[in-house]
Amino acid sequence: MTESPSTSMPAGIDALDHFRLDGRVAILTGASSGLGHRFAQVLTGAGAAVVLAARRADRLAELTDELNANGKGPAVSVTCDLTDAGAPDALVAAALDHFGQIDVVVNNAGISRVLPAVDDDVEEFRRELEINLVAPYELARKAGKWMLDNQRPGSVVNIGSILGTVGGGRLKVPGYASAKGGLHNLTRELASEWARKGVRCNTIAPGWFETEMNSNMFGSDGGMSYINEGAAMGRPGYEGELDGALLFLASNASSYVTGQILHVDGGWTAI
Ligand code: NAP
Repeated sequence: MTESPSTSMPAGIDALDHFRLDGRVAILTGASSGLGHRFAQVLTGAGAAVVLAARRADRLAELTDELNANGKGPAVSVTCDLTDAGAPDALVAAALDHFGQIDVVVNNAGISRVLPAVDDDVEEFRRELEINLVAPYELARKAGKWMLDNQRPGSVVNIGSILGTVGGGRLKVPGYASAKGGLHNLTRELASEWARKGVRCNTIAPGWFETEMNSNMFGSDGGMSYINEGAAMGRPGYEGELDGALLFLASNASSYVTGQILHVDGGWTAI
């Protein structure tokens, strides 16, 4: 097939290079399971050194050992509850102590509760906001300050949700929807504050991917019909279908992209 001049690539350019993370350092939260466990492998596979965070020390140790043994990473872990006041500082310090810099933050840790608003307990609602919104804000602020003070370009990638863009329908998620909606607009705010200083902030808003968080949904006929009916593509996301979005937003491949919510949702928010 003859290529048109507009689509031909000049000799010597490999656009895939833009997606590499060699020499970069990433802080990733929620690495002990689910999407975060996968993201740790994606980031290190593209060349990044990583600082991994979560509460389950055994899971983190197993993952860091595996990454380091496979010649990926290097990876270190910090066992912490991200809602503890000192956690963001501890993650920033670990990145600087071990690797001397911070280039990427992936705010992935989160929790979700399903119950109608009228049955909610406001303390539980506050706790959900703390983990899903306040903790990402604190880590982005602390890492972002280091990037700005040191005039380093950087990328903050938040993990939002389709339920930060639209309501849950018959799934009742008042706290989760509030927190993720806040995270989506926090993304735009941080992007606008930092855009001229080279620090970008974007969000991936996944549709449904099977993890510990939603095993009840995937384990029931009602849950599966909700998932399959709501997605335009009629199915959940499969393992690996967030890899490209993560690498795009973490790397220079998205160097002119900031303040965006990238829905990876099989068309959930398109219909
Ligand atoms: P998951 O398997 O339950 O993972 C959640 C992670 O967050 C775990 O590593 C957990 O680690 C960590 N975490 C929770 N509370 C924490 C705390 N207080 N301090 C430190 N770490 C904490 O669920 P997942 O599906 O992978 O979720 C990852 C992210 O994707 C979440 O933000 C979620 O809202 C988002 N998301 C998921 C889907 C989906 O379909 N799976 C869709 C949209 C958005 P420890 O328990 O070890 O602390």
